[in-house]
Amino acid sequence: MTIREKLHAFLASRPAGAEAGELVGLLLSGAGSDPELGTRLLRTMLDGDPNFVFDAASGLWSLRRNQALRVPLDEARFTVVDLETTGGRAGPGTIIEIGAYRMHGRRILDFFQTLVRPHGPIPRFITGLTSITNEMVREAPPIEDVLPAFRDFLGDSVLVAHNAAFDYSFLDFEFRRIFGIGLENPVLCTLKMARRFLPSLKRKRLDALAEHFGLSTEGRHRGLGDARMAAELLSIFIDIASRMGLGRLDRLIDDHQRGAAGRRIERHVAAEEIAAIAQAPGVYLMYNERGDLLYVGKARRLRERLASYFNSSVSAKTADLVSHVWRIETRQTRSSLEAALLEAKLIRELKPPYNRMLKAAAPAYFIRLDLMDEFPRIVVSTRLSARRGVMQTGPFIGRTGIERSVRALSRMLGLRTCAGKLAPDESFSPCIYGQMGHCAAPCNLGIDEDGYAERVRRAVAFLRGRSGPLMGELARARDDAARAMRFEEAARLHRELEALAALSSRASRLSQVVTENNLVIVTGAGRDRAAHIVLSGRLAASRELRSLEDAREVSRFVAENFERYRARPVTREELEPMQIVARWLRERHPDEGRVINLYGPRIETAALGWPDAGSDSTIGAHDGSGPATRIDPAAPGPAAGSFASAACAQDDGKGLPFPRTDKPDAADKRTTA
Ligand code: SF4
Repeated sequence: MTIREKLHAFLASRPAGAEAGELVGLLLSGAGSDPELGTRLLRTMLDGDPNFVFDAASGLWSLRRNQALRVPLDEARFTVVDLETTGGRAGPGTIIEIGAYRMHGRRILDFFQTLVRPHGPIPRFITGLTSITNEMVREAPPIEDVLPAFRDFLGDSVLVAHNAAFDYSFLDFEFRRIFGIGLENPVLCTLKMARRFLPSLKRKRLDALAEHFGLSTEGRHRGLGDARMAAELLSIFIDIASRMGLGRLDRLIDDHQRGAAGRRIERHVAAEEIAAIAQAPGVYLMYNERGDLLYVGKARRLRERLASYFNSSVSAKTADLVSHVWRIETRQTRSSLEAALLEAKLIRELKPPYNRMLKAAAPAYFIRLDLMDEFPRIVVSTRLSARRGVMQTGPFIGRTGIERSVRALSRMLGLRTCAGKLAPDESFSPCIYGQMGHCAAPCNLGIDEDGYAERVRRAVAFLRGRSGPLMGELARARDDAARAMRFEEAARLHRELEALAALSSRASRLSQVVTENNLVIVTGAGRDRAAHIVLSGRLAASRELRSLEDAREVSRFVAENFERYRARPVTREELEPMQIVARWLRERHPDEGRVINLYGPRIETAALGWPDAGSDSTIGAHDGSGPATRIDPAAPGPAAGSFASAACAQDDGKGLPFPRTDKPDAADKRTTA
């Protein structure tokens, strides 16, 4: 890319123009801080080039072709469009209806509406949503006949739609296919404007906005009906934009390049490059202009994840990252589990600076009970510990709920909440929890070691899923309080019962896996598969699974290591993969890998997809008491609620932070508006 091309591409996304310093900063790092030098350099480079214009009054450079956009919003020409389609993606999906209104400023002048005969049948779901049937479009013109008329209607006006990326992608696809050139009109999106101008409004779909502004929803989910609603929204947003000092068309379009918080997203990676990335699991590495690695992330669907970085709803921190990204490298993996493991390895090895700054994913929490302490307390933590005798359950998502549950459990059993080692002493004065009866106060011998240990045993039983006795006690206490008209106490006990019920339902699901956290996860398909062997909660090995011999090797590994892992303490290095596997099990999609539970030190090679005709297809000792493996169907599996439970040794006193994951920013996806 030449310097002029670079500046041209940058200014194309900045119709209102940019200062010389900003442009020079793009080209020469550091020079942008000297406005005098910037102006002189730009003048030398661009003076005489008819594509570039310098406005001495504002001190801004812009593209000549964008001069036409310097009109007040009330004088701008818009075409507000809504498409109904057979699917969510142009190509496989085709247009079945176009509805559009032509506007001059806030005034509606004309409309365009037609059904379009699609290439294939309309899915029943789309008919249910839009009420457009196959019969209705049977006699309709094909898109090849409709598009020339729509192009005339559109002219050089600004294309506007709600979630315009969707309508634009379909129209651009058909323009390229039919006319050999894409759609070149400027684009505005009422969804983006809603995010920008109404940040506190939670829902920003058309219905929600119509309800918010009291607009009619007549004709919803039909082209013209939705286009009318978007046109009315545009009128409202023109008003808001004008009051915010964005009353000129180029300024409003320019503002579209900014995130919801008003932060500009500088884009240096072309949309075509992102569109060419596979929709597959893997990791991505983002580099700056000098080739320095900035960020490593993982994704279940790489293309979708990377595209989400460039929409305007990203956070200010992400917008900052994106504006420094000039190159993206991707590495595909067989599954999101492998992507997460590879991401963690790359972050550990390469230490990208933005991985420390961006921690977008919701953290996962573990409930921890240190059974080696004389007076254990229940702790919620984002870290797993490698200390001996620590019982850990999880992961759980959502701190508030899990903390409320743990508080209720501790209070119910009178377990202490204070940190540190206790040295019980009769003269010690209990804290407020002891005084209120929420703690049995072992600190001042309010309870002895044996009595406290009995309570801890009950907590462990509860966390392993045997919640009945405790829940029954609490329910009785609540009913007694109600009968005695101690209503406040009854209400508190009821709240605690609810909190414990929530924990119990999660813990009982998880407890199935306590004894089942020996498993083999098979990822990939056909001959490109891998087996990830999890023994005692730990990722013991990952092996290719391309042949019967590979399957035998996995079987041998399980036979030789099953007992060894049960006896061997967890090491610090094992904690991170443990957390990744536990989280993957909790969050996996049904079609992502197969989970095979191990109930002993053997696995059939047939279970791994390689029947071994030459033997009983298993390797390893078997006491004949039952099946050694059970294949979990891909759909609902024990992994639906996962569990990482480890009684660990090797006291290094440190846990590891839960690794960050990336989560796609919520995008307004739809097949119709
Ligand atoms: S009462 Fe004693 S043991 Fe209980 S939380 Fe307070 S200080 Fe700790």
